[in-house]
Amino acid sequence: MTRDSVSFARAPRWVPDAVWIECGEVDSALAQRVRTRLSGTPVHVVDDLGVAEPDDFAAGKRRLVVQRHRGTFLQHCPAGTTGMVCCNYLVMNFASNCPFDCSYCFLQDYLTNNPAVKVFTNVADGLSEVDAVLRAHPQRTFRIGTGELADSLALDHLTDLSCELVPFFAKHTNALLELKTKSDCVDNLLRLDPKDRVVVSWSVNTPAIVASEEGGTIPLEDRMAAASRVQAAGYKLGFHFDPLIAHDGWEDGYRDAIELIFRRLDTRRVAWVSLGSLRMTPRLKAAIKARPSRGRLLTTELVPGPDGKERMWRGLRVKMYRRMLEWLRQVDDRMPLYICMEPAGVWEKVFGEAPPDRQVAERLVADLR
Ligand code: SF4
Repeated sequence: MTRDSVSFARAPRWVPDAVWIECGEVDSALAQRVRTRLSGTPVHVVDDLGVAEPDDFAAGKRRLVVQRHRGTFLQHCPAGTTGMVCCNYLVMNFASNCPFDCSYCFLQDYLTNNPAVKVFTNVADGLSEVDAVLRAHPQRTFRIGTGELADSLALDHLTDLSCELVPFFAKHTNALLELKTKSDCVDNLLRLDPKDRVVVSWSVNTPAIVASEEGGTIPLEDRMAAASRVQAAGYKLGFHFDPLIAHDGWEDGYRDAIELIFRRLDTRRVAWVSLGSLRMTPRLKAAIKARPSRGRLLTTELVPGPDGKERMWRGLRVKMYRRMLEWLRQVDDRMPLYICMEPAGVWEKVFGEAPPDRQVAERLVADLR
């Protein structure tokens, strides 16, 4: 299929109830784009960005704030914590908060006092930061993602952020951009040439977990239809089975999900597949408990780990990882796989060895060169 013949998705896109634009940013390209695309939505231009008191976390997901980002865009992934094998991943935060509402989402803890979905106008400043790092370390290859504090693509129909990111990374040979999503907002991507420097990845789970825990997201089949279009347009793909959750029928559910995901894809163009288990900080547990109808996950038995997060007990995690590995290897025994936020002992039980710390990313990107 050629890029021109790719058909575009027609899924409903997120529209906020209201938009707040920081006064000095009204003339920015991003603010103007948002106003044009949301012509029927009330817009407030404000000096003070305290748009609302942090109230109901879900209500914040109905408001959009367009503002300048203050501080650095590029950071080390916060997953690299004590005692866990780190994959040396960098994150760029061009947005904060997400229109979806997954029951297990760590943003409920991390952004507790955030009353809105925010997008940042000074994208060029963020790209300058990345450019400086890439130029300073030409011998290294970096894996950089935008899907840590936000879904990488769920707002792309309003922001066109991908139209700035993909050409930027297409010009740099020592970095890979990962756009991580649960959406099918891929229309912009289909018009761009990633030159093998962009991985579009989907967070995936069993259809039962998608339906019960991933509020506002689209079904797995629709995510995979988008993945198929993106792959045909020349992008590498990634998949994140995260969080794995031991629910009734999980073995059939995950085996069938793997079958559904990979049946239409060229697995030789899958850059990586990650596995991670359900994990919660005490503050996230409290945040989930405070939201009515959100408590079902709390019935899963979790035990504290050395990093302060609670996870399913180790024997069950190892069992789930091994089963997933077996099914994934049956699909293609050369797909690069890794597990996320687990200690070396779990790596050894699953893979027979643990990588030296921080070498997971280097191995993955080296394989892609
Ligand atoms: S898609 Fe990701 S960032 Fe958005 S609510 Fe779900 S877990 Fe959180």
